[in-house]
Amino acid sequence: MTESLKTREIEALIRDVPDFPKPGILFKDITPLLENAPLFRVAIELLAAGVARHAPTALVAIESRGFIFGAPLALHMGLPLVLVRKPGKLPRRIESVAYQLEYGEDRLEVHADAVQADGRYAIVDDVLATGGTASAVSSLLHRLGGTVACHAFLIELGFLAGRERLGTAPVEALVAYT
Ligand code: AMP
Repeated sequence: MTESLKTREIEALIRDVPDFPKPGILFKDITPLLENAPLFRVAIELLAAGVARHAPTALVAIESRGFIFGAPLALHMGLPLVLVRKPGKLPRRIESVAYQLEYGEDRLEVHADAVQADGRYAIVDDVLATGGTASAVSSLLHRLGGTVACHAFLIELGFLAGRERLGTAPVEALVAYT
């Protein structure tokens, strides 16, 4: 099967759910893909091939749905996995970053000693929308001295121009909606 055929099969397992979690949002539901083990595996293999081009030394997965892709990618690539979590979940000394939501702000945290000055990190999440979350994680890593090798997403919502907020870091996305 060609790569574009595989990508189309994966895309067919992403369901559009209108007006979730609130009116006007077209939610990309990835659960049908997770229920299809062969195509979930193909998605991880294709993402891994894209990420490998940027030679990361570790993966950074963003809670919650970034964990679903980050963990199998780390195992597949044989790389360390660093977790970026919601506030109050990590037990040791943390560094945190605040970022804007539509209403108010939120925070994400990482163990301060999990990021190495000579580390090259691939930041993993399920969906690139406005890019606010991924750019916050990127600045968190930079503050700790790390380098962002690339960003990796299953889905990119291209019409929201999220990659423009990610600076010069390369973006790997398996399924892009324009
Ligand atoms: P953003 O910071 O705007 O790039 O939003 C990214 C985060 O919000 C990701 O962690 C996604 O899980 C989630 N997200 C944003 N928009 C959608 C959408 N249309 N469908 C599913 N998840 C979304």
